[in-house]
Amino acid sequence: MTKTLITIGIWAALGWLTGSWLGASTGWAVFAFGLLLMILVSGLQLSRISKWVRNIEEPPPPSVGPWDEVLAPIYRKLRQDRKEIDELTRQVDVIMLAAEALPDGAITLNESMLLTWCNQTACDHIGLQLEKDRNHSIFNILRAPEFNRYARQSTWPGPVLLHLQNEGQEKSLLVQLAPYGVGRFLIVTRDVTQVEKLETTRKDFVANVSHELRTPLTVLSGFLETMRDMPAESLSAEQKERYQNMMLEQAERMQAIVADLLTLSTLESAPTASGEPVRMSTVIHEALRQAQILSRGQHVFIENIAEDLCVTGMETELASAVSNLLTNAIRYTPKDGTITVSWYRTESGHACYSVQDTGIGIASQDIPRLTERFYRVDRGRSRATGGTGLGLAITKHVAMRHNAELTIHSRLGAGSIFSVAFPPNRVSIEES
Ligand code: ADP
Repeated sequence: MTKTLITIGIWAALGWLTGSWLGASTGWAVFAFGLLLMILVSGLQLSRISKWVRNIEEPPPPSVGPWDEVLAPIYRKLRQDRKEIDELTRQVDVIMLAAEALPDGAITLNESMLLTWCNQTACDHIGLQLEKDRNHSIFNILRAPEFNRYARQSTWPGPVLLHLQNEGQEKSLLVQLAPYGVGRFLIVTRDVTQVEKLETTRKDFVANVSHELRTPLTVLSGFLETMRDMPAESLSAEQKERYQNMMLEQAERMQAIVADLLTLSTLESAPTASGEPVRMSTVIHEALRQAQILSRGQHVFIENIAEDLCVTGMETELASAVSNLLTNAIRYTPKDGTITVSWYRTESGHACYSVQDTGIGIASQDIPRLTERFYRVDRGRSRATGGTGLGLAITKHVAMRHNAELTIHSRLGAGSIFSVAFPPNRVSIEES
């Protein structure tokens, strides 16, 4: 303002000087010219300023006369605000990234329970799509009646367990609702499908173990009671021997179950040991020697064993897998059947142990369940031949601990092939 008044003053003085020298009209003309020039310059400056306003990210135009004093603080404030907005945006981005990284699903709802935001995990848990479902009621998205009842409570001290069907798969979700801010709600979802499965497996396992041990225990205590209650002389020596043999059989059965359970638990708790090269032919020959005793000459054995092929691992575990498959072949192959035992290197560099039999075979629907603990196709046959129902579970564990794969090919009535293929990095050749 002061600058403008000074400029007007200068032009007025110039006009007065010219007027007193060349006449009043010339003086007024000079003054008018000065004012016109000032208006023109000011218009020019304003047009530069209006151009800058359209592109406010740039620094303001230099030398815009009296406007310099106005524009400089505006631009400083703008820069300050922009910095603060950038920092806030960065913080929001970090929070959003953290929300996306959460292993739990997170959903926010407004006061009318309409979906406002959710992370990807929540989309996967509930099968929703943020863009499509935004502003839709959560009751239309999560249609489970248990959730409806839960969400309509006034407080939510604990989560609710929902069993949802998502893309053909059953999911167990723990869902917790919590109010936040003013009238807003947060839903946290946690996938507990695996935990539930594990819990069911654990319960089934305890029930199975109890069941398996109860039968021989009942038989055993039955015999003991009978022998205690009967006068000693009422039992013939032959009867006594028969009873004792039966009791021994039941005790041996329990022993076998406990031994297999201990093996399984050791396999599960011990860290995967890399082991050392094991000459498998020695292990297989020893298992075959035992198998022939078990077979009592009832089966034909064909051996096809690479003598110098070794696998890196734990010898005791490998021996247990080798003999499990072999004894199964004997137990499930009727008299005169053929059992072919092979140990060879495949073209891909794997080492493969396979036991093929011409036995009773397995129906295709049973094959995927054979490695479950205590799963037997024919309970009676398994027990009659001294089975515990744990052999294949142990074998599968041993295979897994050696990064090997157990495969089963079988057809009911046509025999089976059980193979364990070890990866090339565990395979070596040891010259004899
Ligand atoms: P088990 O002690 O009962 O043999 P396993 O875990 O070794 O337990 O085997 C599980 C079930 O798989 C057996 O009960 C049997 O029904 C079936 N099975 C295993 N090996 C064979 C085989 N070679 N031929 C036919 N069925 C088999």
